[in-house]
Amino acid sequence: MAAKFKADDSKRWLTLEYRPLEVEHQVREFWEKNQVKQKMEKLREENNRGLLGFVEGPPTLNGIPHIGHYRGRAIKDLRYRWKTMQGFYVPFWAGWDCQGLPVELEVERELKVRSKKDIEEKVGEERFIAECKKAIMKYHKEWFEADKKFGVFMNHDKAYWTYLDEYIEREWQYLKRAWDQGLLGEGYYVVAYCPHCQTSLSNAEVGLGYEQVEDQSLYFKMKVRETENEYFLVWTTMPFTVVTDTLLAVLPEAEYAKVKVGNEKWIFAKQRVEPVMQELKVKEYQVTETIIGKKLVGVKYDYPFLDTVPKQQELDKQPLVHTVIGEDFVDVSTATGVVHLSPGNGEDDFRAAQKLKVPIYVPFDDDAQFTAEAGEFAGVFARDADSMVIDNLRKKNLLASVKTVRHEYPTCWRSHHKLLWLARREYYLWTDKVNAKVVEAAEKVGYFFEGPKNRFLAFLKERKPWCVSRDRVWGAPLPVWVCENCKHKVLVASKKELFEKALEKPSSDFELHKPWIDRIVLKCEKCGAKMKREPYVLDTWHNSGACPYARFTDNEFQKYVPTDFLVEAIDQTRGWANTLLLEHVLFTNKAEAPYKNYLFYGFALDAKGRKMSKSLGNVLEINPLLKQYSADVCRFYLFWKCSPVDSMNFDAKELTKRPYQVLGTLYHLHRFFMQNSEYDHFNPREHTLKWAKEKNALKHVDRWLLSKLQQTVEDYTAKLETCEFNFAVEQLETFVVDIISRQYVPMVRRDLWSDDPQTLNRRLTIYATLWKTLKTLVLLFNPVTPFISEFLHQNVYRELDNAMPESINYEKWPATDAALQDADTEHAFDTLQKTVALTYSARQTAQLKRRWPLQKAVLVAPENELENLKNLEDLFLELANVKTVEYNEKTPETASTTQERWAKASEGDLQVLLDKQRDEKLLGEGIMRDLARRVQALRKELGFTPTDILDAVHLAELDAESTRLLEPYLIEMAELVRTKKVNVHKERAEVKTEWHEYTFDDKKLYVTIT
Ligand SMILES: [Zn+2]
Ligand SMILES: [Zn+2]
Repeated sequence: MAAKFKADDSKRWLTLEYRPLEVEHQVREFWEKNQVKQKMEKLREENNRGLLGFVEGPPTLNGIPHIGHYRGRAIKDLRYRWKTMQGFYVPFWAGWDCQGLPVELEVERELKVRSKKDIEEKVGEERFIAECKKAIMKYHKEWFEADKKFGVFMNHDKAYWTYLDEYIEREWQYLKRAWDQGLLGEGYYVVAYCPHCQTSLSNAEVGLGYEQVEDQSLYFKMKVRETENEYFLVWTTMPFTVVTDTLLAVLPEAEYAKVKVGNEKWIFAKQRVEPVMQELKVKEYQVTETIIGKKLVGVKYDYPFLDTVPKQQELDKQPLVHTVIGEDFVDVSTATGVVHLSPGNGEDDFRAAQKLKVPIYVPFDDDAQFTAEAGEFAGVFARDADSMVIDNLRKKNLLASVKTVRHEYPTCWRSHHKLLWLARREYYLWTDKVNAKVVEAAEKVGYFFEGPKNRFLAFLKERKPWCVSRDRVWGAPLPVWVCENCKHKVLVASKKELFEKALEKPSSDFELHKPWIDRIVLKCEKCGAKMKREPYVLDTWHNSGACPYARFTDNEFQKYVPTDFLVEAIDQTRGWANTLLLEHVLFTNKAEAPYKNYLFYGFALDAKGRKMSKSLGNVLEINPLLKQYSADVCRFYLFWKCSPVDSMNFDAKELTKRPYQVLGTLYHLHRFFMQNSEYDHFNPREHTLKWAKEKNALKHVDRWLLSKLQQTVEDYTAKLETCEFNFAVEQLETFVVDIISRQYVPMVRRDLWSDDPQTLNRRLTIYATLWKTLKTLVLLFNPVTPFISEFLHQNVYRELDNAMPESINYEKWPATDAALQDADTEHAFDTLQKTVALTYSARQTAQLKRRWPLQKAVLVAPENELENLKNLEDLFLELANVKTVEYNEKTPETASTTQERWAKASEGDLQVLLDKQRDEKLLGEGIMRDLARRVQALRKELGFTPTDILDAVHLAELDAESTRLLEPYLIEMAELVRTKKVNVHKERAEVKTEWHEYTFDDKKLYVTIT
């Protein structure tokens, strides 16, 4: 008898073990050598069934790529490969966010400078810009590498860079449209300001950086003017704002109380009396009077620092300054219901003061230090004045209580400093004026999940103007020039126009950055005087939000925008998704978003569910991760673990478990297929399913598998469409592990075992079925795990059929084949599987191992199900390991008269009875099967392939009774374990060899193979 396979077969086909890192290395080389990425794009560019616009949400080149980024990139790449296979062309081109604060802060650190003044005086803006460019290239290298390793097929040659002149010029077109519509201009307004970065932040940026911080929480008193002992009780966590206080506000319709405490009377909201007194630990007090809020309006109070802040003395002379006003925003359900207003330091305060024409008092410089206007506080950094204020209040006996509190407070999203609110002169996009259009546009977008959609729409409805000017260096310049004489303003939106209008020709190294652009002086068209540029750069979020127009040509913009599908992390509701939308609405003047669908995905957290952060040291950087772990397994895991909208606890330990097992099973099924099919000279072009049908060799089990496959193609594709990736890959998992590996293969293994020429057509039919099924499945896997898919395409499919396309990526997406759908067969197999599962549970209750053959099973089921089961009787006998089967519509009477003889299990209207009695024949066969299983395991352990023929198997020291029962089955056992003979020895000493020890029925047993 010849060996069906040789021991070194594994080298020819697939290795004995699935080693993904080696697979991926090979595939990367193949892709690069053959320019697969480039050809794939070209193929669809030339031949497609439609265009699907895409624009890359540009990573900031200021951080090392980590797993959170790659959760999004995995989705982008999946979508790209899948849609390309479906026949669409997608401009899957990279883009890089290059400018802005993050980059500047890093360069400042490297150059050891701490402020803008330092940049101008010690470094020089030219050198600073050069350093910024250097800094981004360092990160670009990391991203480029990571994309390659992770198998992201993004086109890097077509990348856009947000700092280049051509990009900035097109970005300016957005500003021009807004300018022409009167939606861009200068304004005086309260903005969030980072004292460290020395620049204002947009409303959207503020939302990016809430943190737990410590502040002083204090209750203090403002004396009612011309009274002996009456005070307003006020609460704040920002003591420094007392310096800029100019008003108190109450809620006009609320009730206020005068509360006697010692010999003072405190005025505050009536409903807050009890809780506040409790908090201040005042036990003895008495409400002496209640007053409606509006009666307090107009009451003047003594500003506490009149003596040390001369400017406040001056302001105090104005009629409304330091009086009580009525405002609806006052909340009487917290604190004291008396709010002190600092119009220079708060948005509501600012609006209230403007309405009443109360002057805005903002005595701060760019470092957020008090200026000389703040008297004794001059030169002190705003937040450092907190303790001075507290001390001064205490000295004046105006402090009621102070304690430290921890609370959520907005901090700078880059430098983590506490933000201040300051009234400043800035440039604004008046997006609040087009808010209805913005919201209408956003409502038309598909978001896939309700949570992120609601979050995004709620944010948009806040409708605040967008402060776009930044007092920084490394950014796209604001192209507005102002006349020194008549204050006339112009916006210049191209380099060409700028050069034409410039009084002096720019230097040859000119670029659209500071300081070069600041040197351009224009002539005022109104009065002929000089015009100088407003010194601002643009909010970096405006820069990246301009990409739909700025990254494309006009023609491309027409074709690709609105884009089809964008995906970014959930925090981008306030970031890129927002700025893209605002700019597009301003640009087109239409209620249209630049994207039709937007998926917001959840954060990647560490294994314990903690946020990944530098300070915790738990950031999983992608490049080091992929040195150790497979990109395919990572990608599969990212989709498999949870829904894309959920936060994901990324646990690298889990990679080697189920995800590896699923891909490993896919791999080994191919190995199994290759070994068998090549032996029988399977030819996929000749031995097709059509051929099998004609030969009448297609069995129920094959029809069942092919029908199951159709449903999987349909369900999987539908789940990808709705971005339920976790449910999508679950379909793949179930199909590979359960349907093929645990069900189909065991059901056809017997048929494959033989090498009888008489049954060749049956074996070829199984190969045809597996070819069709596995090939389809690999196509479905390709967008998720492109490496193993390409590997199998090359080493299995192209190996057997060299007419296949060069790369799996040029293949078509599988469609369901109605001719292969067979609901009846699927139903029959469902019943069979349920019945077999019942035999297993009956065996378990009766402690009968599955390997032990039993004489008889009785199946009880409704008539139609019995028909199904009769059709599949051979499979039932084999899977249930019984010799005969009886069918009944009702439980037979013998079962109750000889109750102890039957093991039973039932579910619904299905019942299984197993005859427990075993005669010597069954016992002997059972022993044989037990032993055969141990030999099979040993074969595998010793590296024999499943079909190697062994010379001999030796058993030693089996007890006499078992030996006697086994004797009649030795020939069958030899066939089963594929050996020429089985020898049974009393003593180990009879054969000089290395014995392997096992336990058999609590006794020692020894086995060896020669
Ligand atoms: Zn900052
Ligand atoms: Zn002028």
